[in-house]
Amino acid sequence: MNRPSAVLWIAVVLLLLVPTAAGRLMLDLAGGVLLALLALPLILSGLGWIGWKLLQSRMIRCTACGSTGLKGAGACALCGTPYPSAEDNPASAAAPSTPASDLTIDVVAQDVDCDS
Ligand SMILES: [Zn+2]
Repeated sequence: MNRPSAVLWIAVVLLLLVPTAAGRLMLDLAGGVLLALLALPLILSGLGWIGWKLLQSRMIRCTACGSTGLKGAGACALCGTPYPSAEDNPASAAAPSTPASDLTIDVVAQDVDCDS
């Protein structure tokens, strides 16, 4: 009852050992699958790192209890201490509040005398 699978394995080994187009195709496929298996954890860990950094940039630490919460929330979910707003933060208060897209740059044309 094991004979069909044994015959199949012998056929596969023969395909791999005998240099035919089918054997080369199978080797290429195995190499591609192996490469994908090796590269997948790297890609997933890179995506996870980017996601973690994105999440970290949206988190804020409570000054009273040290727990982290989302920046959009007004107060700490655990102790109720209000999060410091952007106006209280001196670093962001120093930054201009006007968006750059609303600003205009005045360009004045000047005559330049090239003859002299
Ligand atoms: Zn808190």
